[in-house]
Amino acid sequence: MARGQPEAFMIHIIGGGLAGCEAAWQAASLGVRVVLHEMRPVRATAVHKTDQLAELVCSNSLRGDKLDNAVGLLKEEMRRLGSLVMRMADAHRVPAGAALAVDRELFSRAMTEAVQSHPLLTVTREEVPRIPDDPAMYPLIIATGPLTSETLSADIAAHVGADHLYFYDAISPIVLAETIDMAKVFRASRWGRSLSSPESRVPSPEDGDYLNCPMTKDDYDRFYDAVISAESATVHDFDKEKFFEGCLPIEVMAHRGRETLRFGPMKPVGLIDPRTGRTAYAAVQLRQDTLAGDHFSLVGFQTQLKWGEQARVLKLVPGLENAEFVRFGMVHRNTYINGPTVLRETWQTKFRDDLFFAGQISGVEGYVESAASGLIAGRNAAALVRGEEPRVPPRTTAIGALAYYVSHADPRNYQPTNITFGIMEPPPNIRKRADRKLATSTRALEDLDRWNSSASFSTTSA
Ligand SMILES: Cc1cc2nc3c(=O)[nH]c(=O)nc-3n(C[C@H](O)[C@H](O)[C@H](O)COP(=O)(O)OP(=O)(O)OC[C@H]3O[C@@H](n4cnc5c(N)ncnc54)[C@H](O)[C@@H]3O)c2cc1C
Repeated sequence: MARGQPEAFMIHIIGGGLAGCEAAWQAASLGVRVVLHEMRPVRATAVHKTDQLAELVCSNSLRGDKLDNAVGLLKEEMRRLGSLVMRMADAHRVPAGAALAVDRELFSRAMTEAVQSHPLLTVTREEVPRIPDDPAMYPLIIATGPLTSETLSADIAAHVGADHLYFYDAISPIVLAETIDMAKVFRASRWGRSLSSPESRVPSPEDGDYLNCPMTKDDYDRFYDAVISAESATVHDFDKEKFFEGCLPIEVMAHRGRETLRFGPMKPVGLIDPRTGRTAYAAVQLRQDTLAGDHFSLVGFQTQLKWGEQARVLKLVPGLENAEFVRFGMVHRNTYINGPTVLRETWQTKFRDDLFFAGQISGVEGYVESAASGLIAGRNAAALVRGEEPRVPPRTTAIGALAYYVSHADPRNYQPTNITFGIMEPPPNIRKRADRKLATSTRALEDLDRWNSSASFSTTSA
């Protein structure tokens, strides 16, 4: 037995993704042994490509990393709570302007090594096909993600009933860097914000973390007409219209109106072409996807168009005429429970104290949010075996607001959410929006530090 802990100090976690690994790390940091059950490579999912833990299945971006942005605040809170995901993401970041993007391979390899080498963590490679009956498996965290295996999904559905829902997301294509026509694109981060020159607002040709494909009105109209008439892959009838609003396929956006893309993923604002000193009519942004810089993904270009159609339509983007696609966009299933019906703010289920859900399946959306829910679920499952009360950070924090949303939103129209300032109460009497955001972040971090230092348990480092 590692570190002389009693056998009773043990929890089980199903799913070695972002949420499951973070939960395991947090519990182990509290001196609790963890058995982490991960089905890959014994059983594959439709989307994961490797046998690594915490694989990033789509974009390599963990989104904004500044405190004027809610996901930036959530990241900073997680860092202060000893998050493994944040430690490894910071260690393996690649240039991405004001966002935190990582080299996906190095990131998940580092996560796997950290988890597998922790003396209190055991990883077993097996599918758990149903919610276990064996009392020795509890406390239990289910963190099996949007692609939870079929048999376990069916069993979860049997436990939570009609509240177990499905919908579809779509993912962005990736192009080979050497096939991009560099003469037609320019480097810049929106508003000139770059890792290399964070304060610069005057981009030079070498500056900026994104490649931008500028479009004239004619280019845009041609592209729009092609998207509108392109053929999509089939989505099952019962899943139609269930896309997550924050991750709409480009063709779904395009069908909402000619200008929708130009005010969405193709917005040109803040992108000044250093060659002309002007802003284009529309722009497509490409973000570096690997540290080596050999792959770029199309930012916000998730799509369910047929692959042949994607190749045809995307080659109308200036700079991509001869692009080679490393991966096409696609549609995927997303499994999640109706959080407000099933969960408490502690990520425990309402029907069983020692059963938790965490990650995308718990009804949050996004890599960082999934890891954040795992962080609290892991701490609380560990608290239970230690005979302590599960705790939740204050609602004034991003991580606390997320827990509150998932457990208290309207269950009739429940939609998984990214963290936004919209689900956090702003401090009173601040009129300017930008000031309100920063004040919300400042208060959140103060409240989080106070909450964390008042914990009855103390964490140990591995
Ligand atoms: C195709 C796709 C693209 C996405 N793109 C993005 C994106 O670009 N940005 C973003 O922020 N979020 C994205 N998401 C949403 C979400 O953030 C990710 O899915 C994230 O990985 C969720 O983390 P998780 O830990 O909940 O699940 P996962 O990371 O999927 O981990 C769950 C793990 O559980 C395992 N598992 C499943 N069933 C069983 C079982 N019965 N027994 C044992 N193990 C099991 C799986 O193999 C997997 O390793 C995407 C989701 C999908 C499906």
